[in-house]
Amino acid sequence: MILIVGGAGYIGSHLNKEINKKGIETVIFDNLSYGHRDFVKWGTFERGDLGNIDDIRAVFKKYPIEAVMHFAAFTYVGESVEDPQKYYTNNVKNTLNLLQVMLEENVKYFVFSSTCATYGNPVEIPITENHPQNPINPYGKGKLMVETVLKDYSDAYGLKYASLRYFNAAGADPEGEVGELHNPETHLIPLILDVAAGRREDIKIFGTDYDTPDGTCIRDYIHVTDLAEAHILALEYLQNGGESDFFNLGNGNGFSVKEVIETAEEVTGKDIRAVEAERRAGDPPVLVGSSDKAKEKLNWKPKYDELSTIIETAWNWHKKLK
Ligand code: UDP
Repeated sequence: MILIVGGAGYIGSHLNKEINKKGIETVIFDNLSYGHRDFVKWGTFERGDLGNIDDIRAVFKKYPIEAVMHFAAFTYVGESVEDPQKYYTNNVKNTLNLLQVMLEENVKYFVFSSTCATYGNPVEIPITENHPQNPINPYGKGKLMVETVLKDYSDAYGLKYASLRYFNAAGADPEGEVGELHNPETHLIPLILDVAAGRREDIKIFGTDYDTPDGTCIRDYIHVTDLAEAHILALEYLQNGGESDFFNLGNGNGFSVKEVIETAEEVTGKDIRAVEAERRAGDPPVLVGSSDKAKEKLNWKPKYDELSTIIETAWNWHKKLK
């Protein structure tokens, strides 16, 4: 059985669906602070909090857990600057609780949700796993701290981990059973789709004077179902004796904010009112990753790498929201 911590959230719920499709049983552990109970449509749900180590111990005692995938983290970069304690406590300290119980219970396999934010401002594009890691906000710094812990725990205790550094997760389950629902929503694609759906008046373009072809920021959008698949492959890789390692998960193609808006207009057939606004603090002009390592070592083959497909799946989900 696989324990999915944070399995009621956006990426965890998509993983939960895909892994259950393969016949692998899951237990979902989530405190529902940001997750949604109705996103847990597969596996067994256990409500609990990583801040309370006895909650974690109880789940490990109750189920034959063989491996853990850990999605439960706070992810608002701006908030992490304003309230770093919130981020270090949940994303670092509570992760140490989880790892502690794994060691107590002798559970060796760990798939960790890391982030391209551990790289900081890129000095080279595309970003490979060997790119220097100089995160510029507490969110990225906390994720890098956990990566450091994982290396040391692996050396000392034989923990087998895969740390997956996501670029911009986007899109929704192509069958529309789960999708992206954040509160508050800060991500570009769902905000644009809110405009398309008539729930929001306009989309603000944060900066149009960047050193990019159209002046807006370029990001690497990766479909959430492709991300889910990579987690399953990473777990298989570890269980087959693969060495603990770090993998980028991105699409390798960058799209500007304006390109995303234009593609969303094509996909939805709606006019999307865009307003030029100031730059948002902490946004690097370009973030594009190389995922060649995941493709080679995990045999990962992203299926939904077209931006239009990513937006279409998101739209199919989004337009049903109230
Ligand atoms: N962005 C924007 N308007 C918005 C939200 C985001 O122009 O209302 C831009 C943001 O500055 C960044 C890109 O869209 O360049 C993707 O932002 P998002 O918050 O989705 O992901 P991030 O790259 O911060 O992880």
